Amino acid sequence: MQTITRIAELRATVTRWRLARESIAFVPTMGNLHMGHASLMSAAHLHGRRVISSIFVNPMQFGPSDDFSAYPRTPDDDSSLLGEYGVDALFHPTVEEMYPSGSVGSTVVDVPGLTDILCGVFRPGHFQGVATVVVKLLCLVQPDVAIFGEKDFQQLTVIRRVVDDLNLPVKIVGAPTVRAEDGLALSSRNRYLSAAERAAAPAMYRALDAARRRLEAGDMDYAGMQAEGLAALAQAGFRPEYFEVRTADRLAVPTENDVRVVVLAAGRIGKARLIDNIQCAAPRRG
Ligand code: AMP
Repeated sequence: MQTITRIAELRATVTRWRLARESIAFVPTMGNLHMGHASLMSAAHLHGRRVISSIFVNPMQFGPSDDFSAYPRTPDDDSSLLGEYGVDALFHPTVEEMYPSGSVGSTVVDVPGLTDILCGVFRPGHFQGVATVVVKLLCLVQPDVAIFGEKDFQQLTVIRRVVDDLNLPVKIVGAPTVRAEDGLALSSRNRYLSAAERAAAPAMYRALDAARRRLEAGDMDYAGMQAEGLAALAQAGFRPEYFEVRTADRLAVPTENDVRVVVLAAGRIGKARLIDNIQCAAPRRG
């Protein structure tokens, strides 16, 4: 696997692939890779002759009280995993390479509406930072396909919207969430959990699954489900942020005609902020 830190080398590599008419699938990450990321690399091979990943902990998407400096960085393990998964190239730039004039005051990509709900309420500016870095990375790599995890459902929704609105020539593919056996979604932030917190954390998945069952049975008492979900999170030791039923396409409050819905939750436990979601098909009632 070729490891690339400079934009000029990235452009040269991508140009070589393009001239050879090789399709390119791209998987952006922040590193500290686990089997969730690995599943994205496997998915990428189905979509591109060449697979390229990036590792970049993007300061623009972290707020002042977020974990930017503490975010786990494990470059050697990450390189081994990417090598094992047959990734052709890793783009691993410095902050200075990505933001030569600094990340404050530079051009940003703003997605009104979608970015100030759910996680956006608790992490102001987060999705603007995500949208900006993803557009920069897509411009640099120019992939045919880019793969994102459904684990970060709001992020995936924001990116689909950006790509639509800006007519970016890339296909966005969502990949299913990889979970531990007890249901906990794999996340780099799980390593912040103590043993007791790790044992309590799957309560988030169980609460989402309980709401899914109610929705699939035709229940439309969203307020009741949301209250039940928040209570289950608090009971397990979370400091809940939200537990919401939304439409799967635009993250709007569902009406009786909406069939594809998603239940999303976020909460803090110990030092970790965890998010998760489950999609489901509610029976049509309208
Ligand atoms: P991150 O490194 O956390 O920014 O994640 C990089 C990509 O991996 C994003 O598209 C995430 O949605 C995806 N991802 C993270 N955790 C999982 C998981 N448990 N299952 C599937 N995809 C994941």
